Amino acid sequence: MSFAIHGLAVARGIAIGRAVLVASSRVDVAHYFIRAEQVQAEIERVRRGRNAVVDEIQRLQRTIANMGPKETPHELAALLDVHLLLLQDQELIAGVKRWITDRLYNAEWALTTQLEVIARQFDEMEDEYLRERKADLEQITEKVLAAMKGVAVKIVPASTRNLRHASQQDLLLDDTLDVPLILVAHDLSPADMLQFKQSVFAGFVTDVGGRTSHTAIVARSLGIPAVVGARLASQLVRQDDWVVIDGDAGVVVVDPSAIILAEYGFKQRQGEIERGRLSRLLHTPAVTLDGHRVELLANIEMPEDAPGAVKAGAVGVGLFRSEFLFMGRNGNLPDEEEQYLAYRRAIDGMQGLPVTIRTVDIGADKQLDRVGREEVHLNPALGLRAIRWSLADPDMFLTQLRAILRAAAFGQVNLLIPMLAHASEIRQTLSLLEQARAQLDGRAAPYGPVRLGAMIEIPAAALTLKLFLKYFDFLSIGTNDLIQYTLAIDRADESVAHLYDPLHPAVLRLVADTIAECNRQSKGVSVCGEMAGDVGLTRLLLGLGLRSFSMHPAQILAVKQEVLRADAGKLRAWAHEVMAEEEPAARLH
Ligand code: PEP
Ligand code: MG
Repeated sequence: MSFAIHGLAVARGIAIGRAVLVASSRVDVAHYFIRAEQVQAEIERVRRGRNAVVDEIQRLQRTIANMGPKETPHELAALLDVHLLLLQDQELIAGVKRWITDRLYNAEWALTTQLEVIARQFDEMEDEYLRERKADLEQITEKVLAAMKGVAVKIVPASTRNLRHASQQDLLLDDTLDVPLILVAHDLSPADMLQFKQSVFAGFVTDVGGRTSHTAIVARSLGIPAVVGARLASQLVRQDDWVVIDGDAGVVVVDPSAIILAEYGFKQRQGEIERGRLSRLLHTPAVTLDGHRVELLANIEMPEDAPGAVKAGAVGVGLFRSEFLFMGRNGNLPDEEEQYLAYRRAIDGMQGLPVTIRTVDIGADKQLDRVGREEVHLNPALGLRAIRWSLADPDMFLTQLRAILRAAAFGQVNLLIPMLAHASEIRQTLSLLEQARAQLDGRAAPYGPVRLGAMIEIPAAALTLKLFLKYFDFLSIGTNDLIQYTLAIDRADESVAHLYDPLHPAVLRLVADTIAECNRQSKGVSVCGEMAGDVGLTRLLLGLGLRSFSMHPAQILAVKQEVLRADAGKLRAWAHEVMAEEEPAARLH
């Protein structure tokens, strides 16, 4: 039966495919397709992993038998029996084989997929004892996964098997294999999202998350449709269900009827036609009808995104979120050389265009690694994040500053500092920057000049602009956080997403004042939060005097179209009228 789940629209477009349910804790399990001739080897890999765990359990059983009943609790022996039984469960074994043979999933993916299928059955059981066996099943799956590590066979990288982009000879011409896959998970961390960069999924749905959560931001950068905050999606959708993701409306349709499918298929084609139309603007300069030149920059997460940004028509990078270089590394942070090479790749990828590198913004919803519940701070968004984190670990910060300064010898680099609020933080930052230069001088290492910028993303900063403009060459307004902190709305929490309002008069006041003060002092100012890529807000921001927008590359041409149609002079008075409204949104929509 067809039904719809409503969530938040975060990454545009329509995706139609089959659901792949992944437990949040297993998102980091590799997902890729194998070749048909690798099926047997892949089944063998699971068999060897399983046998290793069986051997281990039997060894334990022998030890227990030799120890005598007094020394070993009866429960342990019983538990081992249950684990052995589960490992021999025909549904598990046959299911895993089926996912490998019929769908060409890699072994780990097949195992975790079948685990989800069986876990769902356990959830539905009346008998409490049996229901609790789900935890045992999860445990043995973890053990098999661990045993399989190190017995990998050569695999086809996901990118060669990407269902939407693979060349025809890469695809196996079987209907069931050509179906795009939609990932459905309770939650995905920004670090998980990094893996998506080379994944096989054509779209994703999560139960939690807000519109400007970093998970959503990375989804946008992947250019795949996504819906977050879909509450119970991971419980309502079943493995292999057909689903439609409407990333424009924030709707997930499960088990769609033929009519609904045809409708979405039509919408999908319309989207493609619209993208084709916009691509004609690629080489058109972004100039308003009354002659104001507007700078359209890209937000990127990894150096490898840079060439795509140039292709999308960006005239530079306005925000390189360098923290993505630091995530998912189990605490092994990149050293100076690794960072230097990464920044150089971004600079080289931009072919002489300016690159704004933001120092790490770790914390809040961007944790370095998957963290246990006990490690989550009370109020992570108000805690040790961004520049606070950097200043708390000067060696780490100095390492990053040196790497950026060295890379700056090879192109135009702007250095951007996130989350500043206090004069003391500004002073410490400047002093560490001087120290980083002195360290490089001491090593006679070459480095280049940087323009220094501060992000305005805490209301306290927006209210003390003169202090900031005294020390910085340019400001960049991080509206995602500025909205969060002005309205006291956690940007990652879907339960308050309806109150997260870029058009709240208080937010507009802070944005407008920042732009006006920078313009008055002839200092550079841009917006690099998600507001910059929202075509519904382009005219308003132009009217407020903004001439530099930094956004996800896929949005650049749509924003350019708005710029080309706008008369910035005429928009000025209108923008100030909008700001004066009790509910400015009513004037815009
Ligand atoms: C912002 O806060 O608007 C911003 C661009 O930074 P981030 O989204 O990475 O917090
Ligand atoms: Mg921010």
